[in-house]
Amino acid sequence: MQQYILLNPGPVNVSPRVRQALLRGDLCHREEEFSDLLAMVRANLLQAFAPQGYTAVVVSGSGTLAVEAMVSSALTEGGKLLVINNGVYGDRMRQMAEAHRIPTVELSYAWTEAPSPEQIESTLRNDPTIAAVALVQHETTTGLLNPVTEIGRVVRQAGRLFLLDAVSALGGEDLDVMRDSVDLCACTANKCIQGQPGVAFVLVRNEVMAAMQDYPRRSLYLHLPLHWEAQERRSIPFTPAVPAWYALDAALDELLEETPAGRVERYRQAARFLRAGFAELGLSFLLPPESRSNSLTSLVLPQGISYPRLHDDLKQRGFVIYEGQGKLRTDIFRVANMGHLTLDDFRLFLDALKDVLSGGRP
Ligand SMILES: *Cc1c(COP(=O)(O)O)cnc(C)c1O
Repeated sequence: MQQYILLNPGPVNVSPRVRQALLRGDLCHREEEFSDLLAMVRANLLQAFAPQGYTAVVVSGSGTLAVEAMVSSALTEGGKLLVINNGVYGDRMRQMAEAHRIPTVELSYAWTEAPSPEQIESTLRNDPTIAAVALVQHETTTGLLNPVTEIGRVVRQAGRLFLLDAVSALGGEDLDVMRDSVDLCACTANKCIQGQPGVAFVLVRNEVMAAMQDYPRRSLYLHLPLHWEAQERRSIPFTPAVPAWYALDAALDELLEETPAGRVERYRQAARFLRAGFAELGLSFLLPPESRSNSLTSLVLPQGISYPRLHDDLKQRGFVIYEGQGKLRTDIFRVANMGHLTLDDFRLFLDALKDVLSGGRP
């Protein structure tokens, strides 16, 4: 199969080492070798992202599974969830809570607008039945970065739990779960972590995990304490996606070698490089510079070119871009800079984009 440079926000291009790890061999998850792998992956996740006071629960599935496990496990009976919604993924958390019959309130914003910490603060003050707040750090709908530190401070001062969907943020953005008062943080292996699809995880503050043992089970498969209790015994309740775990193991080794701060900086530089190129091509950005994440850029589709044509012409040249979602579907296109890619890859992409926009044939 032809290899493409993937400029979609996950799954991402991975290193040869991560791809090779998929072939480590057949393994029964009830054997000691899997227990070792489990312990290594959990320890490395904590070393990379939460060195003190947290535990890691790893689940086999996509990022949505980790987010839904977080949302469905973190509330007491009757406890209300405040969902901050400024995109598809915030809205998805509200839908999850509703599916699990968790009472919700929502603060919704335009997709290009950051939520207001003051408004969150007054909402919490006025409604003591809100037990937790759910936020998406990086709204992949648009590439907008939400102010996680400010909102975390407000949530902590109000004494509520802070749930973060960091699926497209962890590894690529500045996030310190302790500093930002994040109690539960959901993420996936195949975005900025640079592993393969099929495994995801939730980082949970130790005291919160202890308290969650007594919370109602709204689902068997999604109940985080069930997974955690087994994982603490170096075991796992259900069959894991073993090859994806191998890949995550290799990806975490690479991440620790690069260092988490080094990874964030590499993504920041890549985004800066791409954005300078987009500006030079005369493209318009959906978001102002201060709202943009390190790993995704939303651009207005130029007049006279449809998304399918732009996509297909770039794909013929070896690059996969991403369309807009929901109401932005026909207005924008998205370019991610996640994964095992170099500035040379981005330079070639900008050349291809210039060629396509000027009507060139491959
Ligand atoms: C990609 C993404 C998800 C869902 O991930 P899947 O792996 O497709 O299930 C959730 N939240 C955010 C912010 C994302 O970017």
